[in-house]
Amino acid sequence: MTPHDTMTALKFRGPWDMALTEVPRLHATGPDDVVVDIAYTGICGTDLGVVSGSYPVAVPGVTLGHESTGIVAETGPEVTSVTVGDRVVINPTPYCGVCRMCRTNRINHCEGKHGTESGISYDGTYAHRYRTTSGFLRRVPDHIPLRAAALTEPLSCVVSGVRKLTPPSLSAHTVVFGAGPLGLLYAWALTLKGLSPVVVENAPARLAFATKVLPASIPAFASLDEARRSHFGDPAAPLDVVVDTTSGLLESLYEELAPGGTFLSIGLKSRAVSLDAMHLADRSLSVIGSIDSLHGSFDEAFHLVTSGRIPVERLVSHVVPIADYEEAFALLGCDIPGRTLTGAGTESCKVLIASGAEPAGEER
Ligand SMILES: [Zn+2]
Ligand SMILES: [Zn+2]
Repeated sequence: MTPHDTMTALKFRGPWDMALTEVPRLHATGPDDVVVDIAYTGICGTDLGVVSGSYPVAVPGVTLGHESTGIVAETGPEVTSVTVGDRVVINPTPYCGVCRMCRTNRINHCEGKHGTESGISYDGTYAHRYRTTSGFLRRVPDHIPLRAAALTEPLSCVVSGVRKLTPPSLSAHTVVFGAGPLGLLYAWALTLKGLSPVVVENAPARLAFATKVLPASIPAFASLDEARRSHFGDPAAPLDVVVDTTSGLLESLYEELAPGGTFLSIGLKSRAVSLDAMHLADRSLSVIGSIDSLHGSFDEAFHLVTSGRIPVERLVSHVVPIADYEEAFALLGCDIPGRTLTGAGTESCKVLIASGAEPAGEER
């Protein structure tokens, strides 16, 4: 390494303490290593929780960022699946394959993942370069922009959750709460399961963005009352399937679930609730938590992106250069210098940080 062989990375030093830092430039050192020049990384709700200290999972000193695409810059001698110059999407969640969780179809809870999870315990992709191994990259077809493929990882988490739902019928009253990226991806993915979801979002700017990008077949409303009256035609319509991206609704909507109904909780805000166990059994309810990718969900999501079945690029509201990361976080209500996290006050959805390796045709 020469003294000038450095690159920029956005380091997490502790809650509200982030810094663009010059660090040694990454190279392919192992035989199966691949180094990627990063193009785009989506800002995830996880990042907002980490930065604000409300989701204290990241190791201080780590480079954040895990929803990403880029261009292969270096490969180790044994790599055959990608070559230098390939446009790729990164699966940021390696798993060991041998622990009990991995052997029993729970790779998202791999017992060996500490130290390997990008942007949490392993240096992630808010940086010029990222190092992984060849099995965690997929080549992006020419017709798919890298900014679209950057949504593969969040969609993979959505696919994991949708797999766990067994709706009672295709006419299930289905409501997704929250019109952030995950809410909108859930709404789209649920249509592929044969359901007809509606989205409820009480932040006016978020609702306006959702209304613009969702197809007419997925209406969005400012409140559950409004959704019930204007969409289900019944102010007391029972709820068959609820997806809560906000962490805040389980207790208040529990009694409103129809018999056989399902509540899928995917938010990551800590909140204690009290539920009646008799009601759970008596009404055959399901309360399900879901996070991360499961076996095959990354490839399933990648197929939904590359086939165009879910037009993920519509969710990209902003692309911001890494040097202006504070502005990018502020678009999502995360004011780093002011140390406050509020709801997004702008018409934002998926905000991408651009690290510099933007391919021709995708310049800002
Ligand atoms: Zn994420
Ligand atoms: Zn494992």
